[in-house]
Amino acid sequence: MSGRCCSLPGEPRPGEPRPGEPRPGEPRPGDSTADATKAIHAARDRGQPDLPGTPVVPPIFQSANFGLSHAVIDDLRSTGGRHSYSYTRLGNPTTQAAARVIAALEGAERAAVVASGMAAITASVTALLPPGGRLLAAEELYGDAADLFERHLARTGYRVSRAPLSALSAAEDSGLGRPDVIYIETLSNPMLRLADIEKIAARARRAGARLIVDDTFTTPINVKPLALGADLVVSSATKYLNGHSDVVAGAVAGPADLLESVQDVVSATGCSADPFASFLLLRGLKTLPIRMRRHNETALWLARELGQRPELELVAYPLLDGHPDHSVASRLLAGGGGIVTVRVAGGDAAAHLVQAALRLIQPATSLGGTESVVCIPAETSHLTLTDEERFKLGILPGTLRFSFGLEDPDDLLADIAAAFSRLRA
Ligand code: PLP
Repeated sequence: MSGRCCSLPGEPRPGEPRPGEPRPGEPRPGDSTADATKAIHAARDRGQPDLPGTPVVPPIFQSANFGLSHAVIDDLRSTGGRHSYSYTRLGNPTTQAAARVIAALEGAERAAVVASGMAAITASVTALLPPGGRLLAAEELYGDAADLFERHLARTGYRVSRAPLSALSAAEDSGLGRPDVIYIETLSNPMLRLADIEKIAARARRAGARLIVDDTFTTPINVKPLALGADLVVSSATKYLNGHSDVVAGAVAGPADLLESVQDVVSATGCSADPFASFLLLRGLKTLPIRMRRHNETALWLARELGQRPELELVAYPLLDGHPDHSVASRLLAGGGGIVTVRVAGGDAAAHLVQAALRLIQPATSLGGTESVVCIPAETSHLTLTDEERFKLGILPGTLRFSFGLEDPDDLLADIAAAFSRLRA
């Protein structure tokens, strides 16, 4: 019996998009050019069968498995289940809805929402690297990404090398070998060095390499790496994309063919997102554009205010005049994001004193939430690095990384000023 005659109403035929995925050329509800509209409407799913009424909010499909039909079995046979729902590790409508929003915001054909930012990085890099292939990663990276590349990927037969962002964006190609994949962050964690994505994308094209960009710190609201030449963009959705510090998730966006390869790795390794996490992410994404505008404004104002303080030896923020990448930042960024990294005079003892004296701003890992947090990167995001490696990146004793949230900026400044007064006590 042919599967075609027995597919259920609303079910896709093998080879067709999953319910809610647009057919090529078909307009989507989130097809506005404005991020604020896409963030709210791109999740809408016109193909979802058999729902009671028309829920305005996409429901949670908190189900590990879905009923089988001939059409689903045909699709499992022919594509591994890419165009139907059978088992949540392979695909889930709630996760798919969150992916539609991220694809729309990144300006991508497709996106995948996965279990964490590290899952997004692992799936993307391993999907694009050929067996024994060469990864060239920026030196200025989140500590756990560096650890993944240097310790885990290098052990599995990939060749990993590192270069500073300045060398990656230099005009001449000598000295960096022939990488298969180049990996950078838009704004590096924690010193906020900015990658000249256009120049690095041009280098990748000349070398025949793919470029993967982590836009966790900027989000697609502040810069869209795919439009600047990146092949894939990855993100820790744990941070700004969700924005409420209650979800661990990740995202990958890019062209459909590369996303198929990424999805293959995700399904095979099981680093798929949970439907409830996807639902919370969807909820957070609706306010991403408006939250980012507020993060941008608060952090720029506080960075300028902190720049006047004698207690600080350094204030790093990409849109401050003195920042080493200020001209690239002015060209590429719509806003500088909510992170400001400072160095307190007096080293780690002074940084600990300030951190402990803050009342509103909580010491905590992670970033990008509604609430402001602070951390000492040498004890958190860059714990796995040696002192020498940290020094090379400019993470000197006394470094504090603030993630400014959505509170009143005057209250945040007052909290920091009160904590600084403890240095003189
Ligand atoms: N990329 C960057 C720039 C990060 O800062 C982080 C985490 O802090 C990650 C990726 C990893 O994200 P997750 O913790 O969601 O796995």
